[in-house]
Amino acid sequence: MKYCQGTKCHQYRTKDRIRGNKGSKYYGTRRRSDFNYGNGNFCSLNCLYDWINDHIDNALNHFGRLTEPKKIMCQNAWYKDYIYRYPDDANYCLRNDLLGKRIPLSEQQWENIDDNNISAFISSQSIKE
Ligand SMILES: [Zn+2]
Repeated sequence: MKYCQGTKCHQYRTKDRIRGNKGSKYYGTRRRSDFNYGNGNFCSLNCLYDWINDHIDNALNHFGRLTEPKKIMCQNAWYKDYIYRYPDDANYCLRNDLLGKRIPLSEQQWENIDDNNISAFISSQSIKE
C-alpha cells in the first residue's frame, strides 16, 4: 500500500478520505495498492497537477531545463505513413517532409519497420539508389 503523492490530496473532501473515529474524524491522503495517474503515484489528475504546480520548477531546475530547442535533422526525419484512397488499398510509404521525399513500401515492409530499424532501412535504400 502506498499514499497518493498529491500535495493537497487530503484537502479534497470526499467520503473515501474520511478517517478516524467519531469525535476525532479527519480527511486523510488516499492510500491504495496502486494509482492510475503519474506513473502510479497519484489518485487523480487533480492530485497530479497539484504536485506539478508545487514542484515543477524545482524538478526542472534539478533535472535540467531546455535552454535551446531540440532538433530532428533531415536524415532522422523519416516516418511511416499511408495514404488511403477508397476503393484502392492503402499506399504505404516512408515520408520525409524535410527532404521532400517519399519511399513506397509493401504492406509487409510497412509492418516490419519500426523506430528501431527505420534508419537501417533508409540506409539500405540509399545504397540501392
Ligand atoms: Zn490524491
